[in-house]
Amino acid sequence: MNDSDAAAGVLRKALALGLLGFAAGTAGIAGAAGVEAPAAAAPASQWLRCGQLWDGRGGSLRGPVLVEIRGDRIGEVRSADAAPPPGPVTDLSELTCLPGLIDSHTHVLLQGDITADDYDAQLLKQSPEYRTILATVNARRMLSWGFTTIRDLETEGAGYADVDVRDAIQRGVIPGPRMQVAGRSMDVTGAYPLLGYAPAVIVPKGVQEVDGADGGRRAVREQLSHGVDWIKVYSDRSYRLAGNGVLDDIPTFTPDELKAIVDEAHRQRHHVASHAMALHGVHNSVEAGVDSIEHGNYIADEDLHTMVQKGIYYVPTIFVGEYVAEGRAKAGAPVWLDMVAIHENTFRRALKAGVKIAFGTDIGGFDWHINPAREFAGMVKFGMTPEQALRSATVAGAELLGWSDRIGTVEAGKLADLVAVRGNPLADVTVLEQVRFVMKGGVAYPINN
Ligand SMILES: [Zn+2]
Repeated sequence: MNDSDAAAGVLRKALALGLLGFAAGTAGIAGAAGVEAPAAAAPASQWLRCGQLWDGRGGSLRGPVLVEIRGDRIGEVRSADAAPPPGPVTDLSELTCLPGLIDSHTHVLLQGDITADDYDAQLLKQSPEYRTILATVNARRMLSWGFTTIRDLETEGAGYADVDVRDAIQRGVIPGPRMQVAGRSMDVTGAYPLLGYAPAVIVPKGVQEVDGADGGRRAVREQLSHGVDWIKVYSDRSYRLAGNGVLDDIPTFTPDELKAIVDEAHRQRHHVASHAMALHGVHNSVEAGVDSIEHGNYIADEDLHTMVQKGIYYVPTIFVGEYVAEGRAKAGAPVWLDMVAIHENTFRRALKAGVKIAFGTDIGGFDWHINPAREFAGMVKFGMTPEQALRSATVAGAELLGWSDRIGTVEAGKLADLVAVRGNPLADVTVLEQVRFVMKGGVAYPINN
């Protein structure tokens, strides 16, 4: 039995006993089972009366408006001055409505990893089954913070448990955001924790270890067969300052290995996300044609140019870099303190160069009690307008995930994923840290922030 079979087995058992439904009820969330009723059972039409609307299609706020919800989809969007609509109306007239938020870099199976001790304890002392139960709680948290879609970028040693979490949400078994997942992820032998144990001690690894171009192709085939949406690779490690503000690294995969992984994934109509924080990791990744650069603390101008040319997304994850810096410096890696300023410089150059930027937080890399919407303020601090930051978590996120046809804007025919906040997020992006209303697929969910 592999990890994911074990996790799925425990989930099935828990569901049979009604345990997850009970837990969801005590946390004040709508009963877990059946929250996403089939479209046929939904009322013909319900309406949201929004004080203001930012629909993600360009332009400023408008309102008041009425948004029609037909089953799991958005119907008509019309001025609230018109005749009152037939059917039930949810009054959000004090609030500003927006498309549901998208976090393009999460880890629902991880509970923080500032130091190796935090990380190793999770893989050595917590079963994948226990970690999967925590992941279901984390998924619900993302939804209540207004994130109706997430791209979860690997389980950190919990096998393919993310595939099961994604499917349980999709089937309406538990509440949570729409998910795309990356399963086990990949790195080369000896580059990724757990490391540093006596040679005779067999320890679990946070990734699938993959070597050689053929090994890369084989691993892509294997991971896709287990149901992942994305292939994730770790392209660099061991950061240090070089001259002139350049962040140096040890690239993990060789260019040939990376190219083979990307080619195999693309050949099978899937995409590749690359953890790449510094010079060589980023360069090799963009040359190989990955689809997104994760973190990207340092990116050379030449590589920013290639990203623009190839349409490669940048997912900067600003907040987590600041969050872990001090702890990692204390643990013996002071370079993490310098990486924050380097990151800001890169972010500003990427903005100027016109690189496509998607909102991602790396939550799980920081504590689950912190609202990931804090990333918005980080993006604005580093030079984005509030509207650019908001677009990165809606329109841009939808494009990165290949779901522009169904999410990312509020318009007729799209899935009814909406959130509402008090105030104007185009003037003050921190209002997004206090979402007052969340709807996913036409179903409103309780909030607990
Ligand atoms: Zn991550």
